[in-house]
Amino acid sequence: MASNKKVSCSFCGRAKSVIESNDGMLLSGIEGHICNSCIQQGYEVIKEELGAPVASASHHQFELVKPKDLKAYLDEYVIGQEEAKRHLSVAVYNHYKRLMQPASADDVKIEKSNILMVGETGTGKTYLARTLAQKLQVPFCIADATVITEAGYVGEDVETILTRLLQAANYDVEKAECGIVFIDEIDKIARKSDNPSITRDVSGEGVQQALLKLLEGSIVNVPPQGGRKHPDQKMIAVNTENILFICGGAFDGIDRHISKRLNARPIGFSGDDTFHDSFEKDQIMKYVSAQDLKSFGLIPELLGRLPVVTFLNPLDATALLSILTEPKNALVKQYEKLFSMEGVALHFSPEALSYIVEQAMQYKLGARGLRSIMEAIMTDAMFEIPSQSELTDFTIDLTYAKSKFERTVFHQMKVVA
Ligand code: ADP
Repeated sequence: MASNKKVSCSFCGRAKSVIESNDGMLLSGIEGHICNSCIQQGYEVIKEELGAPVASASHHQFELVKPKDLKAYLDEYVIGQEEAKRHLSVAVYNHYKRLMQPASADDVKIEKSNILMVGETGTGKTYLARTLAQKLQVPFCIADATVITEAGYVGEDVETILTRLLQAANYDVEKAECGIVFIDEIDKIARKSDNPSITRDVSGEGVQQALLKLLEGSIVNVPPQGGRKHPDQKMIAVNTENILFICGGAFDGIDRHISKRLNARPIGFSGDDTFHDSFEKDQIMKYVSAQDLKSFGLIPELLGRLPVVTFLNPLDATALLSILTEPKNALVKQYEKLFSMEGVALHFSPEALSYIVEQAMQYKLGARGLRSIMEAIMTDAMFEIPSQSELTDFTIDLTYAKSKFERTVFHQMKVVA
């Protein structure tokens, strides 16, 4: 290589030694050299001249994960919920394809299919979304619909949902514009006007209207740090056209709406609750449709932007037991690992595991309850065992599990209730 003294950037003329002493870099071509700041400036000029980012969304190259592979990945972590997994896998795959479609290949434009997941609390809606995020190569964020309020009320503006996405994309707007947003508790912003006891609808329809703006694909001004918009804050413009939205909610009581609708059909049932009574709730849930969600209180415009509706099954005892032991990071595996780091082999008797599942069923918290129950049972052992260097094996049997759990505040709360 030539000496530093003679070599300089053919664009700005700065010497290599100067460039390098400023932590810069000089690249050599056939006829000359170019420094990092000239490359950066050149990039900005091209971007401005062409009126579009150099690598526009239509040129993005992603590692396409096929729906079957995506589902197989979800299967490693999430038990059951076949229907939801299939819908999510297809929607995400199509999302990638949309992003990769050339800008003006033909007149066929693939529209995005935002998803609505209906399922009781603790059935894995957020977990599915999170697991998906691990696999995805696009920015991803989870937002909570309940913290959003209509402009003018205390709470966050709807745009702050996109603040999280921007943060996930490291403030790279182009990247964020290809991202996926999971909005949880969408049922909590249902219109409440059917309920005579509520006269003013602060958080319902207004928030849905605001959300519509994001979902339908528009340029939204996003406060980079979140919170409420304030006049002097510099906003970042984000185009939501290519952002995939996945919404989730428990929709407590929607089974009534479904059974009412099904009963209304002339299929030989009389009486209002016949259908409801003759089917278990989880069987009814699979019939959920946009119409039921509308009678629950979601506005039709919003539903129109969420064309894929899928449901998650309530988790029965068998599913809860599988969740405890089978997934890649199952709770039992996690505790076994913690103990093995102390040189102790941890075992759970089948009766103890059934007892834990039984308690979780009673609290009706879905899989969410498993963690707290396990923690209640394991805390004493986790406190004692690190100081017992001679111990090599430890078994949680039914008697141990019961004795520890019944002493907890958790259990006593149930007794009082
Ligand atoms: P939801 O969003 O439906 O209220 P979550 O997804 O937050 O419920 O579930 C709570 C926790 O329960 C998760 O973090 C996960 O550990 C566990 N869980 C829930 N459903 C499943 C499932 N189907 N398979 C495996 N684990 C699950």
